[in-house]
Amino acid sequence: MADVAKTKRAATAALLIDDYYELSHRILRLGNRGLPRGEFLREAFALLIEASGCDAVEFRLRDGDFCYYAEMTAGPAGNFRFGIIEGIAHEDGNVLPCAADDTPTERLCRDVMRGAFEAGHPYFTEKGTFWTGSAGETSVKASSANGKIPATPYPLDGDYKSLIVAPFAVGEEDVGLLLLKSRQKNYFGRTEAEFFEGVAQNAGVAIADRRTRWRLGERVKEMTCLYGIAEVASRPGISAAEVFREIVRLLPPAMQYPDITVGKIVIDGFVYTTEEGEDAPYKLSSEIVVNNENRGIVEVQYKEAKLDYEPGIFLREEQSLLDAIARQIGLILENRQAEEERARLQEQLRHADRLATIGQLAAGVAHELNEPLASVLSFAELLQDDASLSSQGAEDVEKILTASLHAREVVWKLLFFAREVPTIKKHVNLSDSVEEAISLLGSRFDKENIECVLALSPKTPEIVADPAQLHQIIVNLVVNAIQAMPDGGKLTVRTAADEESVFLTVADTGVGMSEEVKKNIFLPFFTTKEVGQGTGLGLPVVHGIVTAHGGSIAVESVPGRGSRFQVRIPLPSPTDVNESGDDG
Ligand code: ADP
Ligand code: MG
Repeated sequence: MADVAKTKRAATAALLIDDYYELSHRILRLGNRGLPRGEFLREAFALLIEASGCDAVEFRLRDGDFCYYAEMTAGPAGNFRFGIIEGIAHEDGNVLPCAADDTPTERLCRDVMRGAFEAGHPYFTEKGTFWTGSAGETSVKASSANGKIPATPYPLDGDYKSLIVAPFAVGEEDVGLLLLKSRQKNYFGRTEAEFFEGVAQNAGVAIADRRTRWRLGERVKEMTCLYGIAEVASRPGISAAEVFREIVRLLPPAMQYPDITVGKIVIDGFVYTTEEGEDAPYKLSSEIVVNNENRGIVEVQYKEAKLDYEPGIFLREEQSLLDAIARQIGLILENRQAEEERARLQEQLRHADRLATIGQLAAGVAHELNEPLASVLSFAELLQDDASLSSQGAEDVEKILTASLHAREVVWKLLFFAREVPTIKKHVNLSDSVEEAISLLGSRFDKENIECVLALSPKTPEIVADPAQLHQIIVNLVVNAIQAMPDGGKLTVRTAADEESVFLTVADTGVGMSEEVKKNIFLPFFTTKEVGQGTGLGLPVVHGIVTAHGGSIAVESVPGRGSRFQVRIPLPSPTDVNESGDDG
């Protein structure tokens, strides 16, 4: 075949690389190197220009709905262009890699692609390549035997006076065109047309090869990225911020041009990026959606535009990859959220469990102490009545009595906390209870320089509760609030109701609580107050009572700003009414 190619070489041909096989091999080897498209075409064009001595090489390729073209002009001033043309539709439904323009060159390309020339045409090879011949100098005619195409001249009156238009297949179905252009008239002959028709065919193979290799390379990068994300997300104990910092670093290597790529993730307003500063000009992004809620974006940015234009600057595959990454991040967030919720519930359960255990223990101790305390108290009272007691003795008995009463108070609170005290439930109005309790504490407010604001809803529906216990709740919360404002402040007590519950809110502008303190306030004997100031039983008792009434208690606090306790007690259901004794 080499001999055939050689003998076919015309004397007029300007073939500078004389071996067809050498040129073809070089192009095939280029395809094998897995270069990005732009680089591949540049090098292949340089070879073709060198081999043919022509002034420009153009290449067109159909790829799905798009057609790419690339052109390189020879010489020191030669430049390389790459872009997209909107191909025109053939009657068979396929897109032709030809522009809709009605220039002679475009018409020529179109007619070659449509197979408008008959095999016997003087400037038409058996395999379908057309070249401009000598007839009519710069114009040629296509004539169709079946009369489909009228004889049409192609007056090549532009820069180029001679052309070869060689169609080729890429892979199995893609269709491309290779054009060689010369400024000289009659530059090409049949030999050159046949030579480059073969080269074009091999270029098609090289293109298919390059694409496969390159796509494989891109797939490997994608898989590496997605695998990396899964690996990061599954690291035990890793924080969400660390996950995103790691993922953002995996983005650039997954793109076509890692060196000029900036990765960026924005989640709930937090930004993670591989490069601080202004956004780069070319961006591709995908939204991160968690439980149907848009939480942010994952984005890649190119600092400069590269040659390998797709319909945009980025590849379609890169958009799909980014979408996949966004979905994966969404899933990671969803999982983390679910996990946090689980941990919170577990902590709540543990807390309740701890309280119950302590309650049982406390109740046991309280019962044990109750008996001896009762004896101490009654004997001390007996002693008090003894007329023969010295004044020193009377003073001592007084101390015994005070101390025992205090001890009994503690025991009583413990029993309350452990819900060991029988409750007497009645229909009561929360706002009335608050007013009553506050009036008893009233004198303390002025003394402590506290402004007390009551915002009592007159419309709170009646609840079924133990009035003494309700009183306990209010007094405990208000006393805590007063104690939290040693330098004075504002106390607000509010009542409200909705269809299901009544609410009591006690807010102060006092010292507030740290997270650590807030975690422990319902534990019995937890106190931050000095001995004599607090027993650490107030809030556990409140908690016990509220729970016994089927309600709940919520706390908000900011250190240095104040605290707010809200108690919710459900309204009675119609079957709930019970005026008689009941141990809750
Ligand atoms: P005590 O008042 O006897 O310390 P409590 O159970 O009533 O016990 O309260 C437990 C702890 O919770 C207190 O020692 C205090 O640290 C904190 N606390 C309760 N209420 C408030 C409040 N309104 N502001 C700041 N801290 C509070
Ligand atoms: Mg207290």
